Amino acid sequence: MFDIAVAGAGPAGAVAALTAARAGAHVLLIDEPTYRRVDVGETLPPLAGPVLRALGLNALLESDLPRLDTVQSVWTETQTNERSSLFNARGAGWRLNRRRFARGFAEELSSAGVTIWENSALLDIEATRSQWLLHLRISNAPQEVRALGVIDATGRSAKVARKLGVTRVRRDRLVGALLEHPGIEIAENMLCVEAASYGWWYTVATRSGSRVFGLLTDDDILRALDARAALSWWRLLDDTAAIARMAAPALRHKPVIVPAGGSRLSQFVGPRWIAAGDAAIAFDPLSSQGVTTALMTGYRAAVSLLRELDGQPSGREEYTNFLLRIDADYQAERIRHYRANPRFVTEPFWSRRQTDSLA
Ligand SMILES: Cc1cc2nc3c(=O)[nH]c(=O)nc-3n(C[C@H](O)[C@H](O)[C@H](O)COP(=O)(O)OP(=O)(O)OC[C@H]3O[C@@H](n4cnc5c(N)ncnc54)[C@H](O)[C@@H]3O)c2cc1C
Repeated sequence: MFDIAVAGAGPAGAVAALTAARAGAHVLLIDEPTYRRVDVGETLPPLAGPVLRALGLNALLESDLPRLDTVQSVWTETQTNERSSLFNARGAGWRLNRRRFARGFAEELSSAGVTIWENSALLDIEATRSQWLLHLRISNAPQEVRALGVIDATGRSAKVARKLGVTRVRRDRLVGALLEHPGIEIAENMLCVEAASYGWWYTVATRSGSRVFGLLTDDDILRALDARAALSWWRLLDDTAAIARMAAPALRHKPVIVPAGGSRLSQFVGPRWIAAGDAAIAFDPLSSQGVTTALMTGYRAAVSLLRELDGQPSGREEYTNFLLRIDADYQAERIRHYRANPRFVTEPFWSRRQTDSLA
């Protein structure tokens, strides 16, 4: 039996498991590597630096993350501007290589004594009197395991919370139509963002020679544009001012569609369980804050759950307030950012983003 079982080994789950193990808990980390069909090309804002340092993960920062030199943006005007970050202008950030990041975490986790079960999916969860019974599938075989507390770090699927009947509130229906494609040689460490009447585009380097090109729009607009199809998606990309210049001539494949909207759980924490990262709250990628928030909430979730298992459930309210503050700040910033663009306010994509909305 484990003190804490963490479901999901993304940034939130890895930090939660590490924090609990460093505090002396017997921790199990379960992960079903649902490899994304495309590298979304995450970038980290400057705030990620102090967060990683505070978590004692300096090594990850120093050796594993390439710096992001510039953000080129065609946002409020039709010409290109250069700045150092997207939502804020407090210096440069980093380009995240998820595989290298995960490898760096794996070393930290094993030296902290975390038991890691890879290729294991959490299928269901049952509360017994003072424990959880977790139903897993490990390499196609069913298995059960017990733990005193559970952390849901399963990303947007929020598997634990959903199994416990917690609902998810959606802020929008944003999706990404993404494609990894050869990029032009310059601009390895440059993120480029461009507004369009129907949404916005970004491109950033992923692995060597490749960039991800992403169209972000609402699912109904994507359908109306027929932009799941290669021909329409490339026609829209060809019409952009700055993004199109970053794509090298090569065979034109069709994009992969991923959910990208803002959403959060209606309840972040309950008796002996807690949600962290995207499972608790997910953001519009324009904010570039998903990974940093996953790291912070992973840490806070572990501390709160450990306190509860130690007989102090007061941490639940504190954690809820912490997440509600993040949500309020994010929402204000998101509206400010979309409102700052006067070019398309009457277009459906932009007019939907002029006020707060929770569906
Ligand atoms: C298009 C796009 C662009 C983005 N750009 C940025 C950016 O520039 N900067 C940024 O900070 N963020 C960005 N994000 C957001 C960022 O990817 C997420 O916020 C971040 O990955 C959240 O981390 P997490 O640990 O909460 O969840 P995840 O990284 O999703 O990890 C969840 C883990 O749980 C595992 N899992 C799921 N279900 C189960 C199960 N049943 N059993 C066991 N394991 C399970 C998954 O396999 C995965 O390993 C972007 C997102 C998108 C869609």
